[in-house]
Amino acid sequence: MTQLIIDLQAEKSEILKRYRALLRACKETLQKGDKKMIRRAFDLALESHQDMRRKSGEPYIYHPIAVAQIAAEEIGLGTTSIVCALLHDVVEDTDITLEDVEREFGKKAAKIIDGLTKISGVFDYNSSLQAENFRKMLLTLADDVRVILIKLADRLHNMRTMEFMPREKQLKIASETVYLYAPLAHRLGLYAMKSELEDLSMKYTETATYKYIAQRLNEKKTEREKFVKEFIDPIQKILDEQGLAAKVYGRPKSINSIWNKMRKKNIPFEEVYDLFAIRIILDSQIEQEKADCWKAYSIVTDFYRPNPDRLRDWISSPKFNGYESLHTTVMGPKGQWVEVQIRTERMNEIAEKGFAAHWKYKEAPHAESSGLDQWLQKVRELLNNPESNALDFLDDFKMNLFSDEIFIFTPKGALMQLPANATALDFAFEIHSDLGVKCIGAKVNHKLVPLSYQLQNGDQVEIITSNKQTPKEDWLNFVITAKAKSKIKSSLKEEKRKISEEGREILDRKLKSLKIPSTIENINKITHFFKLHASQDFLYQIAKGGIDIGDLKEYVNFEKNAGYKPFERTDPAEFVKKIKSEEDTLLIGEDLQKIDYKLSTCCNPIPGDDVFGFVTVGEGIKIHRTSCPNATKLMSNFGYRIVKARWNSQKQLAFLTGLNITGIDDVGLINKITTIISNDFKVNMRSITVDSHEGIFDGSIMVYVNDTHHLNNLIAKLKQVNGVTDVRRFDSDITVEKA
Ligand code: MN
Repeated sequence: MTQLIIDLQAEKSEILKRYRALLRACKETLQKGDKKMIRRAFDLALESHQDMRRKSGEPYIYHPIAVAQIAAEEIGLGTTSIVCALLHDVVEDTDITLEDVEREFGKKAAKIIDGLTKISGVFDYNSSLQAENFRKMLLTLADDVRVILIKLADRLHNMRTMEFMPREKQLKIASETVYLYAPLAHRLGLYAMKSELEDLSMKYTETATYKYIAQRLNEKKTEREKFVKEFIDPIQKILDEQGLAAKVYGRPKSINSIWNKMRKKNIPFEEVYDLFAIRIILDSQIEQEKADCWKAYSIVTDFYRPNPDRLRDWISSPKFNGYESLHTTVMGPKGQWVEVQIRTERMNEIAEKGFAAHWKYKEAPHAESSGLDQWLQKVRELLNNPESNALDFLDDFKMNLFSDEIFIFTPKGALMQLPANATALDFAFEIHSDLGVKCIGAKVNHKLVPLSYQLQNGDQVEIITSNKQTPKEDWLNFVITAKAKSKIKSSLKEEKRKISEEGREILDRKLKSLKIPSTIENINKITHFFKLHASQDFLYQIAKGGIDIGDLKEYVNFEKNAGYKPFERTDPAEFVKKIKSEEDTLLIGEDLQKIDYKLSTCCNPIPGDDVFGFVTVGEGIKIHRTSCPNATKLMSNFGYRIVKARWNSQKQLAFLTGLNITGIDDVGLINKITTIISNDFKVNMRSITVDSHEGIFDGSIMVYVNDTHHLNNLIAKLKQVNGVTDVRRFDSDITVEKA
């Protein structure tokens, strides 16, 4: 047993020190009486969390103080929010009630804390409840966006202080964060917070890669700083001469964004050229902003040649989340591309602090038609839709969180914003759902196109309708906006309900002739007999002729002879309990027969990989890598179905994995590679595909290996072959798995 010795006196002064730092952070916004109110909130929080400690052993009060500090400093929120941040855990965790809060701090604060308490369980319990809770969270968001901003501050602090949590909790929290909180931060324009949340998640889910990139960045730091200085100096000089007050500096990109680039382009760290961006932050009068930014652009491009394809003007049309900036990529002095971001102090504050800062500047000339308000309006609309499947809703909504936007013109020249990759049909639904359901085609820039046509930025679109048109199932394959999806789904559902009523009539007639009572119980039995799960599907199939009603005679015989066995479902909760009671951790490899598990095909884990188990319905436990593209979704949506797992194989088992080999094609290269694989390493190959193109060799080989150690040795050996330039493990075709 370890003994914890706490110096209470030292702790007390540390708490006060942190409180004073908080006051300094919100100094800018403090008005008369605010300081007193914050003090009262602090005293109440201190008293109610008095005997509570965090996992680290620290006093609990450190947490609400830190959350309040993030809210003030990094989001720029005002006094009410700071009070709420200080009190965000008291109603849930202590005896203090909402009525107490309302009496002491007013209605607004009570409402925000109510919202915070309600959404605290968003990711608990089972999945459907989770999605329902998520919906609640969005309702509060649409009501008062401060709820979600404080929630984000809370999440950020928890992520920053997660090292004392047990591993599976870290994984779960990190997954939720990339799944939902980082996209929300992005959508609300909190870029700095979004990057930090993603980096922190990666630190826990892909620890080795994270450390590797962080270390490489560190090694190159001095070299990079020198380069930045050489790049900046001449520009800074001209800016000064022309009387443009500006801060110019280099800013490193986040580890996660570097990793994304490496994966997307399939390149090693050394080949990522934009490890940093140059920022020029101008101190401009509001009327001069646009002109000053372009002036700075002109100065930069006088010095360095710009890439004409890489100019982005988010000043003339700001992004959805309020982001304004001018981006260009220029050729630096050493022949490498460098991204330059030009904006004013005001634009920069919006870029860093997002929503709250945006509201502060609401009077600014370019900000009035901000996409943020429109977005919140859309959230409200979606929530009012009676679409019942909350989980689908969550998926659709999330997709809309991630995507960038394009601008589309109506025939009359009005401007509409849509997510990138939106189709003509999405546009129709965006204008009006009646236009969507009757849409048969569109004219894009006066040319006829199909419904599924993907719109490009700046297209002018006219929708063509027909009264005979009805929504089709396959429309769901190409529309991407949540609005279009939910409207199509509810129309289809209504359609299906009508058709299955016809099916019921057909079935009833048949049952009558067979003298079987038409009860719900009987219909369910017959549905199962025809191997369907839902009676509505069954009735629908009857009406559509997909099921031959004549086969009902077989059912009668089956009932007589074998009797009816109800469809069996594995209860996942029971399953987990069973496993957990035997062993806290699922050991893979030893108990092959005992537990029914499968290695998932989406990420093909092999021994040595960091893995977890996921309890499926009917297919036992599936083992995924923690870096699997599906992992985040599974862990955040179905946390209760996650089982800890680790490799425990003593036996030499073979696991399938894929290698990607590139090189200069040479006579006998394939032979050399296969010799190493099968003779030197005695590894079995399942398949080998080679593409040779103008002397470049590109091969994929599926091999059976024992573990990551074995695999890494093989990779190292293959890399030594003359002509081979690169060998890497790949994740076989990534398919999104249905849970
Ligand atoms: Mn908290």
